[in-house]
Amino acid sequence: MTSAARPGVVYLVGAGPGDPGLITARALELIGSADVILHDRLIPPEALAGAREDAQLLYVGKEPGDASVPQDEIERRLIEEAQGGRSVVRLKGGDPFVFGRGGEEAEALAGAGVPFEVVPGVTAGVAAPAYAGIPVTHRDDASAVAFVTGHEDPGKDESALDWNALAAFPGTLVLYMGVKRLPEIAEALQAAGRDPGEPAAAVERGTLPGQRAVTSTLAELPSAVDEAELRPPSILLFGPAAARRETISWLEQRPLHGRRIVVTRARAQASDVARTLRALGADVVELPAIRIEPRIDAPEVRDAIADLHSYALVCLTSPNGVRLLFEAMAAQGRDARALANATVAAIGPGTAAALGERGVIADVVPERSIAESLVEALGGVDVSNRPVLVARAAEGRDVLPKALRERGARVDDVALYETVAEDPDPMALDAAQDADYITFTSSSTVRNLLAAVGDGFPRSARIVSIGPVTSETAREAGLEVHVEADRHDPSGLVDALVDDATARR
Ligand code: SAH
Repeated sequence: MTSAARPGVVYLVGAGPGDPGLITARALELIGSADVILHDRLIPPEALAGAREDAQLLYVGKEPGDASVPQDEIERRLIEEAQGGRSVVRLKGGDPFVFGRGGEEAEALAGAGVPFEVVPGVTAGVAAPAYAGIPVTHRDDASAVAFVTGHEDPGKDESALDWNALAAFPGTLVLYMGVKRLPEIAEALQAAGRDPGEPAAAVERGTLPGQRAVTSTLAELPSAVDEAELRPPSILLFGPAAARRETISWLEQRPLHGRRIVVTRARAQASDVARTLRALGADVVELPAIRIEPRIDAPEVRDAIADLHSYALVCLTSPNGVRLLFEAMAAQGRDARALANATVAAIGPGTAAALGERGVIADVVPERSIAESLVEALGGVDVSNRPVLVARAAEGRDVLPKALRERGARVDDVALYETVAEDPDPMALDAAQDADYITFTSSSTVRNLLAAVGDGFPRSARIVSIGPVTSETAREAGLEVHVEADRHDPSGLVDALVDDATARR
């Protein structure tokens, strides 16, 4: 089922347990098209990133122990927004119909004659155990699974839960919202006859960075949880399946599990590296030290674009440069054909890939992505007395234009963009203090991060550099470089970091 959110319709959408990769395709489509989104507290932090810029985002969550927006007000609001002709997404953690009050909201909508749809989500009671290596069912010893609320006070007389039935339940008990009442719950289950020695587990912040899990027995789980200081949101599990964590746990095996890694690239470029690192288990802190300011309206850029067909050689030194060159070309109504006469050189595979995406196969790509290597790779290209365009960052090094001039080229060295310092986000900076690694992908990231944080630089972290030029800048600034990539591109940097983390395990 695919289509944008329709006006006048309410979508009761599950956002999954926390890992943004567990948001369904349908949920993303609706989040990306809705006029209004009413969301809870326990939704993945990135879930709203794809919302329309002009969408209205309303937080209606409940802080633990204090009901901020009463349920009937949420329901009234849903009805009002839909009747006003807007498309409405009601976004909830996990699955909307599993302890999410989605049923009540659907009833209210049905009662008011408002059309609605339900988009199931990955529920925490299955996902948190799965990420902890616990299958909630198993052919051998867990043929049934029960989802139970732990919100009820087992001591109160009118408890909605039948503890005798739960104690006798032949399978896995999965408790939501139970961590605060765990001692009473464990007591009630034992009093009703459940085996005190039965395997049990608790999973805190399941599927999120920093997920923690403890395994124990029914009788001992309260003290184990207390000792580990597990807090909500946590899932509790009782049943033989809990013991399987010992052999099945997988999350902890990923190469960067539990490592906090700071990414200092410009925000627009950081996402690829951040995603790869997260997939390897890292807790990534995005602390962009730089920002790209395009200069494609500058007169020298416009002149160069107007003359593009006359250059014998065009050199590009970053994917950003490629992107902005094509933007500058488009601004003058030109496309890749303007490069038809030129030999096109890229500093490395990333830059060559950016060209390839735009239909241009680079003629020259050196093995190592540094200016010196590009100069060498251009050895066979005759540039003597011929016009050459070097299109790049304002603060790039002089190596390439200088070498080409020495060989007789008439070089236009044109800045397509400038790299400027980004103000550090205080929360990210705070998180960076406990970092295991800080990654630098260019000299400007080193200089600007140091300028921005001053004495606040996290000294205990290992420094990872993309290549010799960046390393040199770091050393000059008094930093020790612990890891340098062999391949001077983002994937080379990730590989080098993983090797280091693996060696230090
Ligand atoms: N509709 C949600 C549940 C909402 S009730 C779902 O289907 O998942 C809130 C409870 O869900 C929390 O108290 C906790 O028990 C559980 N929970 C939600 N997210 C969790 C997570 N990431 N890890 C562990 N438990 C989680």
